[in-house]
Amino acid sequence: MIALTKIKSTLKEYFGYDQFRPLQEEIIQSIFEGNDNLVIMPTGGGKSICFQLPAILLDGITIVISPLIALMKDQVDGLTTNGISAAYINSSQTELEQQEIYTKIAANEIKLLYSAPESLSYLEHIFTNQKISLIAIDEAHCISSWGHDFRPAYTNLGYLKKRFPTIPVIALTATADKATREDIANQLNIPNATQHIASFDRKNLKLEVRPANDRITQIINFIDERPNESGIIYCLSRKATETVAEKLQASNINAMAYHAGINHDIRSQIQEDFINDTCQVICATIAFGMGIDKSNVRWVIHYNLPKNIEGYYQEIGRAGRDGLPSNTVLFHSYADVIQLQKFAQNSGNVEVQLAKLDRMKEYADALSCRRKILLSYFGELIREDCGNCDVCKNPPQFFDGTIIAQKALSAVARLEGQEPIGTVIDVLRGAQNNTIFDKGYQHVKTYGIAKDISWLDWKQYMTQLINLGYLEIAFHENNKLKLTEFAKDVLFHGKKVDLANLVEAKKIQEKQTVKTPKASKNSLFERLRQLRLSIARDEEVPAYQIFNDATLKEMENVRPMSDEEFIQISGVGKRKLENYGYQFIKEIIAFTKEKEKKPKRKGETTKKTYELYQQGLSIAEIAQVRKLAETTIFSHISKLYDEGKDIDLMRFIDKNDLQSIREAKETLGNPDTLKAYFEHFEEAIPYSTIRVGLTILGKED
Ligand code: ADP
Ligand code: ZN
Repeated sequence: MIALTKIKSTLKEYFGYDQFRPLQEEIIQSIFEGNDNLVIMPTGGGKSICFQLPAILLDGITIVISPLIALMKDQVDGLTTNGISAAYINSSQTELEQQEIYTKIAANEIKLLYSAPESLSYLEHIFTNQKISLIAIDEAHCISSWGHDFRPAYTNLGYLKKRFPTIPVIALTATADKATREDIANQLNIPNATQHIASFDRKNLKLEVRPANDRITQIINFIDERPNESGIIYCLSRKATETVAEKLQASNINAMAYHAGINHDIRSQIQEDFINDTCQVICATIAFGMGIDKSNVRWVIHYNLPKNIEGYYQEIGRAGRDGLPSNTVLFHSYADVIQLQKFAQNSGNVEVQLAKLDRMKEYADALSCRRKILLSYFGELIREDCGNCDVCKNPPQFFDGTIIAQKALSAVARLEGQEPIGTVIDVLRGAQNNTIFDKGYQHVKTYGIAKDISWLDWKQYMTQLINLGYLEIAFHENNKLKLTEFAKDVLFHGKKVDLANLVEAKKIQEKQTVKTPKASKNSLFERLRQLRLSIARDEEVPAYQIFNDATLKEMENVRPMSDEEFIQISGVGKRKLENYGYQFIKEIIAFTKEKEKKPKRKGETTKKTYELYQQGLSIAEIAQVRKLAETTIFSHISKLYDEGKDIDLMRFIDKNDLQSIREAKETLGNPDTLKAYFEHFEEAIPYSTIRVGLTILGKED
């Protein structure tokens, strides 16, 4: 058995992390106990470490089965930058390349070997001659025709457990429905696998559904409010990805289309530009995103309704992997529902696909907390409404909609169920167009009885009447709108109908959208990002594999200036300290010095702070007037104090805090960094207070 301390030190040494995410530790322990494991974790949950870390510590080689060549290359690159020896074998390599890998394996120089299920035959003599430590099967739902991306070659993988009955197998997926889960365990011959089901709740993702009206304008406004944020727009068709990208480009948005029909090299270039933040927005079919782990995707938009909840959740899951707040917007239209119904009719598994589409539609039409619905799909119940979806933020206002319902239903009845939604609404609103006049609908009794309700509002109400079960769309008859048997209750027996006032809610919501502040071009973060990009180009790996954004942000905040400080940063392991520490530390020091060397501007800016101080404003008030951070104002004040200006620093610090800082200075031996104090106080005294305290003490010495 491997000790927990060893497992933890390996996590820091190789991956740079101090703590496990939920379930990672128990999964790893379970592997060391020799169990088979089935891991269900949402996208971004941190599945890879669950088999990569044991692979490092176990004797022998870990075989990883993964469906996509791009994904394999990515993972191998990532492992290599962390100092873990890994390789992949597939049919795209030359015999010579493969031979080199086999040689390394024979010399026990490789800890993880990736392969596609189609390439199992390449592994045969490794199976015969090497010690296999662990078998990992990534994207394991591909084995199940219940799942949403079935891969026939996966069905051969049951062979592995038969051949190696004593070697632990770990199967991983983000698809959680129960039928698929059981199917995976059975087909892989691991019926006794310990199941680890992580929470699917990604609290940092805001969920929002909007009606698909004037989508392009909505999207342009959305992006304009977030000028520096990366995002993905998923479209149903290749054509749509191109049209959307063109329209965004015409509005000066840095957007590119991405789909399987684009030349392979161009596609890789687009993907790389997106990863490196030189392309802001990708308009893509679902082909995009599978193989990338860009952690700072800040938003995901679905231009079209996805065909099932698994796919939808996986796609929105690509936002906010770094755990920071991220937006998701789904545009909902009946035109898409109709299209997807057709696709489902032509698929192999008609009933399953249609049922899944129904659940997707229920989610999009929801009038109660969306996260509850989403999580319940994955078998997870939450008690409280989430507070971070559009329904929670703007609960629908219900009103007595009986008259509206009666008008709608009687219009459908008068048209004898022969017309689609659009025409029914036109009749209700008394539209004067060719369809109406050609068919003589201006003479129908319900013509023009509800002009006071806008077209869009009508569409909302119709959707609600469909969801309430009074109307249905006959998809096989050109989408004609028909009455159901329940409609009689409303039409003839005065049944009350409650409708939600969604349109009003939407207006309020649009007003509430908050703008995020633009990141400064001259910030340390930006400088570190540039450095990361140039290293990534030299090494031909994606930038996020050098360090992710969260790691760069921490460097910006903490400003590590020595190896000891650098290794403390989350995401910095031993190999990365050795390879990149020097360059990053140098950049941080250079940046800090430059900032100190700009006396003129700084002098002016502190002068303004001084004027406001003399007018009796508090730090918070000065910060507000000057639109600067309070810490910046504090640093001005300290500087003015140092220059001998008449400043009463004691106004800004509690006597007890000052005493604590005095003692800490003594105990810690007058350290160079504020961080040393900050940590000594276990973060109880903020940086700004420490700074003021040290300024006062500086005068005492
Ligand atoms: P999944 O395969 O489940 O989608 P990944 O294995 O790609 O997720 O991990 C998602 C992100 O989370 C990666 O950037 C990874 O480095 C990071 N990560 C994984 N485990 C941890 C951890 N214990 N602490 C911090 N970050 C982690
Ligand atoms: Zn909610």
